[in-house]
Amino acid sequence: MMTQYGLLIDYEYCTNCGSCQVTCQEEHDYSASETGIKVLVDGPWKTREGHWNFNNWPVVTDLCDLCAARTAKGKEPMCVHHCLANIITYGPVEDLAIKLSTKTKQFLVVPQYDPIAARGPFVSKNKGAHKAAHIEVQGTGKANYAVHRHDTKVDEISVEDVDATEN
Ligand code: SF4
Ligand code: SF4
Repeated sequence: MMTQYGLLIDYEYCTNCGSCQVTCQEEHDYSASETGIKVLVDGPWKTREGHWNFNNWPVVTDLCDLCAARTAKGKEPMCVHHCLANIITYGPVEDLAIKLSTKTKQFLVVPQYDPIAARGPFVSKNKGAHKAAHIEVQGTGKANYAVHRHDTKVDEISVEDVDATEN
């Protein structure tokens, strides 16, 4: 079987500097609204024990292709190379899984070199009991908007409704 590669992200030390996103966008010639990675912020909020929760989460998007053009030549992905806190590791999933098990506050993601093709068409998991719809519309011409519904009103949604809601 072909070796699967992924990214191990040690988010405990992410400073939200944004370097990963900027270099990802430059490498792929993405517009300002497109990126393969972005940082989500959770907190600060206080737990009932009085501790503070405050995490920066660098998460990959549907556009992450593991820097296919670079990694095919044996180079590191741009976000790995330019992460100022050095918290992103690229490598075979088996190796990353071992590292993952040695420390908390990390996560492992397995994007694909051709992510859109690898994702394939949407297939509902809920045959019978629930209906599910996955409607993708082209929004501004640059961004894709996705809507997921898991209820019986799915049939009432049209692409035009989604388009109007998102714009
Ligand atoms: S691996 Fe490459 S495409 Fe994926 S998030 Fe990092 S820089 Fe972007
Ligand atoms: S470059 Fe590294 S430290 Fe900076 S936001 Fe991205 S993951 Fe966090």
